[in-house]
Amino acid sequence: VGACLRRRPRRRHGAGAARRRRAGAALGAAAAAAGLAIGHRFMMAPPACRSLPTIRSVRPPPGCPGRRKSRSIRTRCAVTSPRFGRPGGRSYRPASSSRRGRRARAVPANAVVLHFDDGYLDNWLHAAPILIEAQAPATFFASLDFVAPGKQPRDRAACDDGRGYMNWPELEALDAEPLFEVAPHGIDHGRVAVSDRIVGKVTQANWRSLAWLQWAQMPGPKHDWYLHETPPAVPVGAPVPESEGALAAAAFVGGRRETQSEYRARVRDHLGRCRDMFTRRLGRAPALFCWPENRVSAAAREVAAQLGYAASTGGEGRNTAAEPSHILSRIHAGDRALGFRWGPAEALRIRAAVGLFAGNHYWYLVAAPMDLTRRLVMGLRERFGSRFA
Ligand SMILES: [Zn+2]
Repeated sequence: VGACLRRRPRRRHGAGAARRRRAGAALGAAAAAAGLAIGHRFMMAPPACRSLPTIRSVRPPPGCPGRRKSRSIRTRCAVTSPRFGRPGGRSYRPASSSRRGRRARAVPANAVVLHFDDGYLDNWLHAAPILIEAQAPATFFASLDFVAPGKQPRDRAACDDGRGYMNWPELEALDAEPLFEVAPHGIDHGRVAVSDRIVGKVTQANWRSLAWLQWAQMPGPKHDWYLHETPPAVPVGAPVPESEGALAAAAFVGGRRETQSEYRARVRDHLGRCRDMFTRRLGRAPALFCWPENRVSAAAREVAAQLGYAASTGGEGRNTAAEPSHILSRIHAGDRALGFRWGPAEALRIRAAVGLFAGNHYWYLVAAPMDLTRRLVMGLRERFGSRFA
């Protein structure tokens, strides 16, 4: 009995503990599963229907004499990567932004749209052949004042380093290619002063990043502005006013801000001149408009719609079906993902950027350490000069 008495409660106690342990484990597992499910929901936003990486320029392929000189960004790796560029691949599928001529077709799942801004010559020389090879559609945005003179498309075999801008025959040839379309990026890529507040001054070190000040004083063609060694129009020491994208805000001129109707009239004139020039050159009205620096206002969007532009850039959303279809949100595809140029890293970082944009926050696990490395390497480079990396 004693043994029984001793044993039974012990058995009961043992059974209860096991039950409690089992229950505890089940509860823990359920909590962990719920945590993971909630975490997963937090990590995975609802899918966006398309994402829009923007690329400005592409470096010449290996073996070109101009390669070393080139200061443009290297995205060849990203565009040619089978995980990124091949249509029908398991990953992202390049699609056309305005789906010109195939309106009825739905946007494929995992679609990305490639935008090339600013009309750089390397787009014609180096990007277009890669895109054609990958059968990847793309849109090229050019600013009228920066279109280079020239009556012939330049020879790709010449292996030019691609500095400078495309000419009209090159833009026309791109637009004639069924994969591509060419659309306006404004006239002068300008900014305007928005007050009489001075926020800095022009120096030899900063004048290129403040090029809008020079452009504003250089009416007409500006395709060769980058060849100047010193500021061509506004001298070192000149004040820099508070400014905003020229199409995004009322300008401060003659001691006052433009009225809303003056501002709208300026935007209408600007967008109308772009539409007319592109229509004359390409034989059709442009469907898209790309706001310089992605700076835009609600009033400017309204003017663009009135002038017949179907959509324009500058959105800050994710291009989901719930968002207005006339606003295109884009992400910037940069280079030096690790602080130095290395093809596979650039491809991975762009892949992560597109994944994050599409709502898959697991890509932070890739992007965050890469961005941290980049910051460290850039910091070291700043400290120790170009000897490092
Ligand atoms: Zn631009």
